[in-house]
Amino acid sequence: MTIIKATCPCCGDIELTRDQVHLTVHPIKTKSFYKFVCPQCGDEVCKPAGAEVIRLLKMGGVVAVPIDVPSEATEPHPVGTITMDEVLDFTNQLARLDTLVQTIPFP
Ligand SMILES: [Zn+2]
Repeated sequence: MTIIKATCPCCGDIELTRDQVHLTVHPIKTKSFYKFVCPQCGDEVCKPAGAEVIRLLKMGGVVAVPIDVPSEATEPHPVGTITMDEVLDFTNQLARLDTLVQTIPFP
């Protein structure tokens, strides 16, 4: 039986069997992770799993579970700063929305 060595933040180095480790592989490589319940303290430990960790866990017999996400989630999204003009436009839109709601009669 393969022994997988891991580290618990509370207990330090521990040994696990392949069935005690759960590996989730995300389409975005930096979001893959593995987790286990520490056999000494009982805490659930979750750590990121890079390509090398995934490879080693698979070699140890850990079953990699792929996670399904919508393709839009894997697309790059440019991150920009919200400008003051955008905030003002947003508040103006909200003000119009309140007016619209007030003019709609209840049934
Ligand atoms: Zn522990």
